[in-house]
Amino acid sequence: MKRQTIALVAHDNRKKDLIEWVEFNKASLLNHKLVCTGTTGRMVEAALLQNRSKHEPKPDITLLKSGPLGGDQQLGALICEGKVDLLIFLWDPMQPQPHDVDVKALLRISSLYNIPTATNRSTADFIISSTLFGTDYEPQVKSFSEYLGRNVEI
Ligand code: PGA
Repeated sequence: MKRQTIALVAHDNRKKDLIEWVEFNKASLLNHKLVCTGTTGRMVEAALLQNRSKHEPKPDITLLKSGPLGGDQQLGALICEGKVDLLIFLWDPMQPQPHDVDVKALLRISSLYNIPTATNRSTADFIISSTLFGTDYEPQVKSFSEYLGRNVEI
């Protein structure tokens, strides 16, 4: 098993869904490193610590800033740096968010870097039960050399 870094984020109306998913997949998630936006992270940590037996590993969880306060952007930066393997991002399709642009930016960066991304619970189920989960699978990323070497007129 390869220890992976899994990013977890949920908008307020989707936090219940995410916490249920975390509780259901607790045994598996405890083997990995988690990185979360602030409020989501506090709730995930509490869920993982609840009824924890002493045989279980301690959750390895990093809490970033709350999403609307820059947490989504911090996560995007970690993806650019190659420090995130999977993104579980349960965003709310029914309510506008104050940080809509950050939400879009995070989804754009996860596509750009070809990070496996779940934006709903069923995709999260597929990802965590995939035979590629917990392996050293490396997403292929374009070189962007053509873009970087482009001629810019000044
Ligand atoms: P939160 O942020 O975990 O701090 O609630 C989530 C988000 O809105 O991106």
